Amino acid sequence: MATSAEIRQQFLDFFTSKGHQVVPSAPIVVKNDPTLLFTNAGMNQFKDYFLGNSKPAAKRVADTQKCLRVSGKHNDLEEVGVDTYHHTMFEMLGNWSFGDYFKAEAIAWSWELLTEVYKIPKDRLYVTIFEGDAAEKLDRDDEAYNEWKKWIPAGRILNGNKKDNFWEMGDTGPCGPCSEIHVDCRSDEERSKVDGSTLINKDNPQVIEIWNNVFMQFNRLKDKRLEPLPEKHVDTGMGFERLVRVIQQKQSNYDTDVFTGTIAATAQITGKQYDFSDSKEAVAFRVIADHIRAIAFTIADGQLPSNTGAGYVIRRILRRAVRYYYSYLDYKQPLLHQLMPLLAGQFETVFPELKQQLGFVSKVVREEEEAFLRTLEKGLKRIDDIVKTASNGNKQLSGKETFELYDTYGFPFDLTQLIAAENKLTVNEEDFKAEMQQQKDRSRAATAIDTEDWVVVNDESATEFVGYDSLDIKTKVLKYRKVKAKGKEAYQLVLSATPFYAESGGQVGDTGALDFGGEQIEVIDTKKENNLYIQFTEKLPANMEAPVLASVNPARRKAITAHHSATHLLHAALRKVLGAHVAQKGSLVNDEQLRFDFSHFAKVTEEEIAQIEQIVNEKIRENIPVVIREMPKDEAIALGAMALFGEKYGDRVRVVVIDPNYSIELCGGTHAGTTGELGFFKIKHESAVAAGVRRIEAVAGNAAEQYINEQFTLVQQIKEALKNPKEVLKAIENLGTENSELKKRLESLEAKQLAALKETLLQQVTQVNGTQFIGSIVETGSADSLKKLCFDFKTALAANGAYVVVLAANIDGKAQVALLLDETFAAAKNLEAPKIIKEHIAPLIKGGGGGQKTLATAGGQDAGNLPQVIEKVKGLI
Ligand code: ATP
Ligand code: MG
Repeated sequence: MATSAEIRQQFLDFFTSKGHQVVPSAPIVVKNDPTLLFTNAGMNQFKDYFLGNSKPAAKRVADTQKCLRVSGKHNDLEEVGVDTYHHTMFEMLGNWSFGDYFKAEAIAWSWELLTEVYKIPKDRLYVTIFEGDAAEKLDRDDEAYNEWKKWIPAGRILNGNKKDNFWEMGDTGPCGPCSEIHVDCRSDEERSKVDGSTLINKDNPQVIEIWNNVFMQFNRLKDKRLEPLPEKHVDTGMGFERLVRVIQQKQSNYDTDVFTGTIAATAQITGKQYDFSDSKEAVAFRVIADHIRAIAFTIADGQLPSNTGAGYVIRRILRRAVRYYYSYLDYKQPLLHQLMPLLAGQFETVFPELKQQLGFVSKVVREEEEAFLRTLEKGLKRIDDIVKTASNGNKQLSGKETFELYDTYGFPFDLTQLIAAENKLTVNEEDFKAEMQQQKDRSRAATAIDTEDWVVVNDESATEFVGYDSLDIKTKVLKYRKVKAKGKEAYQLVLSATPFYAESGGQVGDTGALDFGGEQIEVIDTKKENNLYIQFTEKLPANMEAPVLASVNPARRKAITAHHSATHLLHAALRKVLGAHVAQKGSLVNDEQLRFDFSHFAKVTEEEIAQIEQIVNEKIRENIPVVIREMPKDEAIALGAMALFGEKYGDRVRVVVIDPNYSIELCGGTHAGTTGELGFFKIKHESAVAAGVRRIEAVAGNAAEQYINEQFTLVQQIKEALKNPKEVLKAIENLGTENSELKKRLESLEAKQLAALKETLLQQVTQVNGTQFIGSIVETGSADSLKKLCFDFKTALAANGAYVVVLAANIDGKAQVALLLDETFAAAKNLEAPKIIKEHIAPLIKGGGGGQKTLATAGGQDAGNLPQVIEKVKGLI
């Protein structure tokens, strides 16, 4: 039986033999596309080619692409593990034609591969074609039908509707009919009973779609009209795990050698058996075997789990896996990280990035697991609490409570339902769903962007970026459009040639101005969308056709550039000082500072920081020329460039060399001519951002000078405040010691004073109606000592029967009062200290207070009525 590795290779070999160039998978994490968090189809990395924004290096291409379908348009998460053929991460095998071959070849080759190379029985295959759509004025895809007719009986070619058989890239853009290939994996006996053609696209787990061939021939406009594309393309995607399952003749994707290794390892670790059933336990095995792949490869591609965006998607997948092993495999410790070495070994030759970062990925996963296991325990406690209060009266958990458990603690609805049922409670599913919907609506409203169609001014193809060499250029507008986000309108302009650097690789976009024959329009940002340079403005010029002078803000650009070159110097210094395990995990470069995140397991010590700064400043003083060259990616790696996994196929990479023995990096950013331009480098801050990831914030150039000046001024100010001592540090230390000594002396003085006061007051006890009474205005520094005195009287007076004490003080113009009663007196007169304060004392001092039944205190604005306070209390006795 062919192994999964062989099956993958056969696909690539087959399309190589048909003139295709095999390219590597793009990263699963998408970096430069605002509409997509993760790669969810093989075609994502080729979007620019379909949109005509750039030209492919080869017209025929094939690959296996890591895909993830747990967010946005495709979200299969809740199916995964429950069914046997939807995964979070899966490999999509694909072949592409960029304006080259079309339906005839695509169809003939897919048939040849499946039936002759893979030898899938022809009578198990069905295909679908687009049936047409009257509303869209689209005919049936007869072209595809006629091609299929050459290979497969008409009865096995089924019509499909627009939903299944018309593919669109998004609301606008390339689209066209598609043709799916389905396989009937049922037994011969079952097949003779029910005809396979009746089960296509009916969610039968044994009759599944394996391959989709998309024929892009239209462009969808904003007003929904379709126009023909000048060049037609083929885009195909075949689910690798499903293909292996068909060829290895298994009932489920999880029974193939893609997954059996991790399932066996999970069984060994947990001591449970995988029994292929639909039990929660079996689902747990499948969930783990599936999710571990998504988690591992997204982290290896540079996305860390977090609380927002792509990071949050990963966190949710990871938590789903933890929940399953915690609840259904009864395993209460971190498990996923233990499977990591096995997985890395299995994919070493296809996706080596995991093996190369195994230590890092395992560590991140382990810490996430530990943190979530703690949350889970907390969540279980919270459920306990809710259940307790609920059982006091209400027999139902509210939608709010269930949603809180889901949202804060990661408890899915069915788990809460289960636990509630164990406690004889029900849950309100409708309210829960309503809460969920509300949250979805909130987040959708927050991110909704309304984009209008491009208005073409000059019909030319892609923009040329000239901003590496010039900051000003005469150019013209190619097209523009209006966008509305969060109720604010803005405009996006595309220029024929642009000096504005578009945000990417951590470097922020340029700002500046566009001069339309005298009318100045400010550029507030520049971004790239599918390789298109877009200038953002708040208004449009009166004359769009006027020649434009585009100018980048030069001072800002210079500061950004200094920080970018400094980032490279820093990266190399980090590797020298901390070790070669240091790899970039994130970077932000703007005019104010640079921020660099990197893998490293310990805090960077002060000595290491000093060493790093010293190396970088040394390199700045050497005034090394920054040499930039463009070359194919492989050549750059051979040169010793640090291999980043963010590059796509076809990219000619830009290599930035600062002394070939010191720093070689792939980078598209702007850089200084020589390192001397950086002037000076200083690290401001070092901190942790995530498990195994540290962050350095630093400054270079003007910003560094400013930073040092600020620090220097601060020291000057401190010196002056201290009256310019010879040794500042010593002076500050002395102040501290002096201060604590004074405090001690003051405390002992106060204690003595208080003791003396107590004695004097005890001499003044009078009898009022048979009750001992002390009422006095005392001189003391704090409200606390009044209270403390009262405490002392308690024991002193108790021996002689009932007592009442009221002490008042004027402290810095404010009234303070403490009142002490004994319990028998309070009970006999039906009085309580807080009540007396509230009713009789508070009005006199214009304030308030409270305390215990027998001892209460009050404070107020008016210290003029203290004698009345004493008289008032005396009167109550
Ligand atoms: P389905 O209807 O089965 O969800 P789809 O229509 O969403 O499939 P396409 O978007 O056409 O699938 O993707 C092309 C191929 O990728 C499919 O034919 C299938 O083999 C595979 N595929 C799609 N989604 C998944 C998934 N979640 N897990 C594994 N393979 C998948
Ligand atoms: Mg789907």
